[in-house]
Amino acid sequence: MNRLLLPTGLFLLAILAAVAASSPPSTASWHLTSESETLVPDATLRAQIFRALDAAEHAGTDPSISHFKVRAATVVTVDGEDHVVLGGNTEYEVPEAIHGESSLLNHVTSLYGPDATRHAVRFVAFFSEHCGAGASCGDCRDYQHAVTDYQRLLVVCGQSSDHTVRISRFADQLVEEEKFPMASPESVPITAAELERLTRAASEARLGGVTLFSTTRHTGAAGLSYTGKIYRAAGGDDAAFHYRYPIGGLLQQADTERDYYLRAIVVVGEKGQWPVVSYRDRQYGFESSSFNHEAGKLPIALILADGLGHYRATTFEAALPHAFSTAEFMPQAVKDFLASHTPTAK
Ligand SMILES: [Zn+2]
Repeated sequence: MNRLLLPTGLFLLAILAAVAASSPPSTASWHLTSESETLVPDATLRAQIFRALDAAEHAGTDPSISHFKVRAATVVTVDGEDHVVLGGNTEYEVPEAIHGESSLLNHVTSLYGPDATRHAVRFVAFFSEHCGAGASCGDCRDYQHAVTDYQRLLVVCGQSSDHTVRISRFADQLVEEEKFPMASPESVPITAAELERLTRAASEARLGGVTLFSTTRHTGAAGLSYTGKIYRAAGGDDAAFHYRYPIGGLLQQADTERDYYLRAIVVVGEKGQWPVVSYRDRQYGFESSSFNHEAGKLPIALILADGLGHYRATTFEAALPHAFSTAEFMPQAVKDFLASHTPTAK
């Protein structure tokens, strides 16, 4: 074979390989913002973060619907050795997805066990085109809260364009129910009679639902719409572990009736206890409240009742800090949707 006819591609590859070998590792180009530097003073942890960001760039994803890639990575130290673990989002059929951070933590568990996920995962790093203010969705907050040492967990975003690295505490994405302000029937944005009706409806809803697995955290919820209707639902579990959430359930009923704007939602749990409102359910409420915002209405009031006449009240905006909704990604589509789906007044 004539050597002169060697494919030029191979030659180019050889040159590229030589250039790559002589380049400094790209980790050197990541730099922390000054606020992030104070959060991570430890040089070893910084090096692990930069290593994870380099790896995250190549995490495989399949966001066939949104085309929004979530590329995540972490470095865990197991038996004195550092390991990079990747996660990426996959979207399928109706808008459903395996999310980047859930995928990542599940990979850590499959490779090194649940103890490694709880004790060795110090951070979740995202390689992103743009590091905005948005944090994890509600469900990923529930998952990270449940399986990691979440008080210590850091969230890292490395911006691809300029390689700045922003770090925050995962705990800043959480607001425990006990932190919701105490309220009275006079202080909430519905009348005392409406509050009583909603509390009763939520308590009755809680008698139902399906609780074959979820015995301790069962809740009922009731929502009042601007048209004066009440929708209610209780949590329901099943063998496939696709839990149906009470707030999501009542909102779906209201949406089905094209009754898109709610004034208040009351949640009740076991008598004498404050109900737990999962972050996933807060995400449903936040999305719905963004419709209110779009229509110039007050945000939905989220009210917890302990069954003994005490209340706490907040908003989904406050209960799910740094959240995102379709109103933010596609404002015009949401505007058009609501305009075309709102029943016309007769
Ligand atoms: Zn998520």
